[in-house]
Amino acid sequence: MSRSWGLRTRLVHGGAARSAFGETSEAIFLTSGFVYASAREAEDRVAERAPGYQYSRIANPTVRMLEERFALLEGAEDCAAVATGMAAVHAALFCQLRAGARVVASAPLFGACQWILTDLLPRFGVESELVPASDGEAWERALSRPAAVVLVETPANPTLELVDVERVARLAKAAGAALVVDNAFATPFLQRPLALGADLSVYSATKLIDGQGRCLGGLIAGSARFIGETLRPYLRNTGPALSPFNAWVLLKGLETLSIRIEAQQKTARALASWLEGHPAVVEVRYPGLPSHPQADLAERQMLGPGTMIAIRVGGGRERAFAVLDRLRLIKISNNLGDVRSLATHPATTTHAKVPEAMRARFGITEDLLRISVGLEDAEDLVADLDRALRP
Ligand SMILES: *Cc1c(COP(=O)(O)O)cnc(C)c1O
Repeated sequence: MSRSWGLRTRLVHGGAARSAFGETSEAIFLTSGFVYASAREAEDRVAERAPGYQYSRIANPTVRMLEERFALLEGAEDCAAVATGMAAVHAALFCQLRAGARVVASAPLFGACQWILTDLLPRFGVESELVPASDGEAWERALSRPAAVVLVETPANPTLELVDVERVARLAKAAGAALVVDNAFATPFLQRPLALGADLSVYSATKLIDGQGRCLGGLIAGSARFIGETLRPYLRNTGPALSPFNAWVLLKGLETLSIRIEAQQKTARALASWLEGHPAVVEVRYPGLPSHPQADLAERQMLGPGTMIAIRVGGGRERAFAVLDRLRLIKISNNLGDVRSLATHPATTTHAKVPEAMRARFGITEDLLRISVGLEDAEDLVADLDRALRP
């Protein structure tokens, strides 16, 4: 049925499974377990000889609707939903790693992802290496040796540096590695990692997919075989299950994803251009600006430049804090992808636990601010930033 649908139709109708009541909006199956008509039926369902649900740690109808809708959006064979974006990144890596393996990842990375790479994996005998996102030669060097998994974040949080996914996918394949792309900043609406050669794409659904700052969630999309045989056994036995209630909130989020992203992106484009001409701004990073060092790659790889902007305001932490503290409309928050515009000082919040030397190396400077553009009138955002940026 639904594979011929356009993206916007998929976002509204994909995966809907109505109960006997024929409800319009998907039902919330807020239940931990399911009952069986007979002991034989229980045996058959657990053995997966008979269809049906058993226990919500394993699968739940509302969660399944979200997974099916999201797989349709991504163009993936299957999708697994989990409780948070970090649960998605963690499970995507751990379900396929063992001691002695090697993981290569792009930098900068979201702070918690970097912690998994540099603090957690080595405890289990997994070697990890970070490669500057846009350094083609460094990618070739790092992947001239065998690896099990390559993890990339593009656009990267918070510097909006890009990784050439097609190129890294080729190198990863030659190194024997599975490529996992953290696509939280773009969502499948603006970038399709699987179509670019990645094996898995992972999401913090907390961000643009909920998009209204209400709940946490994570999604992992890939082949039916990988999700079914490698990922599902890991998830059902370790338990990072998504609540059916949050799955429902995320289903509602998907219904408005296209119009939110399009509107927020339009404002982000206008704001980025305006910021570039502002005398108090040292540098603007936005994949839709010709001044972005990888503007060509953004054009080739992304379906749109997105809703996130990074700016450098000069003068170090003190100046960055002063600008944030003078904002009235734009809220200070480490969340992103909300309908409310949010501003963050990554060096002291999202990336505070990244060692200082590494922050400096990967461009997370003390004067860097990350702006997540919301649905407000562009003129109001310009006025708020203009006042805040005054010397
Ligand atoms: C927020 C974020 C995560 C973590 O997601 P949570 O839902 O907060 O667990 C991972 N990667 C990126 C790029 C993010 O922005």
